[in-house]
Amino acid sequence: MNEKIGYLLYCIASILMFFGAMYLLAAPVQNTVPRLITGSILVVVSIVMIVITRMKTKAVYEVKATVELPPSIDLEQLKCKECGGKLTKKSLHFDPNTGTITVTCPYCGAVYQMVEDVKW
Ligand SMILES: [Zn+2]
Repeated sequence: MNEKIGYLLYCIASILMFFGAMYLLAAPVQNTVPRLITGSILVVVSIVMIVITRMKTKAVYEVKATVELPPSIDLEQLKCKECGGKLTKKSLHFDPNTGTITVTCPYCGAVYQMVEDVKW
């Protein structure tokens, strides 16, 4: 689920929430029970939609952070400062907890931390 669909679902959910609130507010005037039921269903559905959208959107962000990082860094141009060995994508490691990228030289084991600005 991408950001546009998430945004659209938020809009639909807020519209449902609005109509649900209108039904609940209008319930005491007349047709109390049907309006309470309709309003409650609309509010519950909109809350469920928001919760699901939040969960799915968050999951997509986590995947993006790991998948889209490598192309932004030109690893073909990188060489180990210690031994001059060529660094490949296999030696790259992204830590999602700290948001840092480290590169371990496959030849001498030297560890570097990438300093490029991360875009997401
Ligand atoms: Zn090295």
